[in-house]
Amino acid sequence: MTENFFDTLSLHPSVLAGIRDCGFATPMPIQAKTLPITVPGASVIGQAQTGSGKTAAFLVAVYHRLLLTPRPTGQLECDPRALIIAPTRELVQQISENAQGLGAHTGLRVHTVLGGMDYIKQRQAFENGVDVLVGTPGRLIDYYKQGVYSLDKLEILVIDECDRMFDLGFIADVRWMVQRMPPMHERQNLLFSATVDHRVQELAWELMNNPELVEVDSTNTPPDRIKQSVYHLAREEKFALLVGKIRRWMQTEAQLRVLVFTNRRDGCLRVADVLEANGIPAMALSGALSQKQRFEALEAFKQPKPPIIVATDVASRGLHIDNVSHVINWDVPENPKDYVHRIGRTARAGAEGEALILASEETVEYLPRVEETIGRKIDVVWAEPEELVADLRFPPRRPREKRDFSPNGSRRNSGPRPGGAQRRGKSSQSSRRS
Ligand code: AMP
Repeated sequence: MTENFFDTLSLHPSVLAGIRDCGFATPMPIQAKTLPITVPGASVIGQAQTGSGKTAAFLVAVYHRLLLTPRPTGQLECDPRALIIAPTRELVQQISENAQGLGAHTGLRVHTVLGGMDYIKQRQAFENGVDVLVGTPGRLIDYYKQGVYSLDKLEILVIDECDRMFDLGFIADVRWMVQRMPPMHERQNLLFSATVDHRVQELAWELMNNPELVEVDSTNTPPDRIKQSVYHLAREEKFALLVGKIRRWMQTEAQLRVLVFTNRRDGCLRVADVLEANGIPAMALSGALSQKQRFEALEAFKQPKPPIIVATDVASRGLHIDNVSHVINWDVPENPKDYVHRIGRTARAGAEGEALILASEETVEYLPRVEETIGRKIDVVWAEPEELVADLRFPPRRPREKRDFSPNGSRRNSGPRPGGAQRRGKSSQSSRRS
């Protein structure tokens, strides 16, 4: 790839300045393949994983297009010219952060709306004018129905992580919004999805005008740099090995950043609680937590000495977290694609990484599908007796019915607390996947 790829696109100078500020010297593959199509104004379906650079791919196209022409006459300042819909709050937050960086020289106003926080503040901010609106479907629709903004003159629509929109049941919401936009041929449509299956293709056919399909990585093969292994254990041995492994790494690894994935919300809370009870700083990241708690966990994870983060798949989907040294699958994921996503959090940007599965009787049945998906057998390792911690401490289980309903969780949420697993959750939903 030539050094000056971005210069060859005839991008608006303010967009180029943002790209330079971000230090993007060469394009990532999804950018190299989509930008020559999207910058001139065509629609595209981009098949790209999290971490592939897709956010910048669509933001560059959005900014360039908006800068080419002024706001249409008669359009109210509160009405967005571009709309970016993403399935999770964390993803929206991340897009918004990237948008601030890349768009620093454009003068375009980005407004972010997401559920769980700042309801009035987010609504009032429309009054400052909106060029690019980024949000999750629920909150976007909520404000739309209140007449806070309109989509009548929308020029460019981005749907991010489209497959996840389906998984989370947001597609009806997306359709609802699209019906309120100008006809498909009057707007540019960019759709990104980690997998482009028949559902995504059908939706694209329905919502988009002759989009071009661009694929950068159609394999499910995790990089070889990730050392993968599976431990077969009895259920009651899992904590003994987990605590033993992490304690050892805490002594031997200079840069320890461990993500533990659980299939369910209640498992996520329990694992974080048990780690904490055994002297290992841990925080949970699940849909049962408040938005504030989730951001706190993420911020804490970015610190030089982060706590262990115990996460569910949905809560962590789409997050770009650098330098994860170890990924532990507390459960074998039901959806084999989740395994690929989970372990893809480590060994980023050429680094090495290690991924373990703690397979016990509850979820070991999903292992063959995982191996089929990644196209190889995962090395089986047997835990050495000395790796299993004998004197584990188990905190009392949270009562199923009476979990913490206070808005901020029962622990005082006074900022990121390495070592502070938040107390969280709605009991009725506590065992849901999220
Ligand atoms: P994403 O897949 O959008 O989450 O992006 C993953 C990471 O890649 C983000 O931290 C981006 O800032 C970074 N990134 C995006 N484009 C480039 C580029 N052309 N060169 C270097 N880093 C990039």
